[in-house]
Amino acid sequence: MKYLILIILLTLSLNAKAEPVPEIADPKLGDIALATYIEGEIVIIYNPNYCNMLGPLICNFFLAHEYGHINLGHILMGTYAAQTDFDADCWAAKNAPILQVQAAYSHFLKKGFMGNWPHGTGDQRAQGLFKCAGF
Ligand SMILES: [Zn+2]
Repeated sequence: MKYLILIILLTLSLNAKAEPVPEIADPKLGDIALATYIEGEIVIIYNPNYCNMLGPLICNFFLAHEYGHINLGHILMGTYAAQTDFDADCWAAKNAPILQVQAAYSHFLKKGFMGNWPHGTGDQRAQGLFKCAGF
């Protein structure tokens, strides 16, 4: 039983996340998720209410997007330009489980809620996923 739990935890932690960082729920966050520094450590903060609203597949895609920012070094550089956001989406499209990417793709096409996303439309974001995931 202990091993089963361990295997489940390992599987969850390997879900699109090369190097997991602390993921902190904050219902006051004005966005779905963001990666930042807290006391010198990289963390992801996410809004659990938005996650409940969006469902686990789409929510996890947004977390994968933040892992994209981390793995592409955007957090270290402190750059948050439009291109870094599309690059983080592309990273997530290549690294997240395909079901999450497909869920995010339809969500963007339907112009679903994207949180505090200042760059481009849902269609542009869906197009980017389509190209990067190679469906
Ligand atoms: Zn972003």
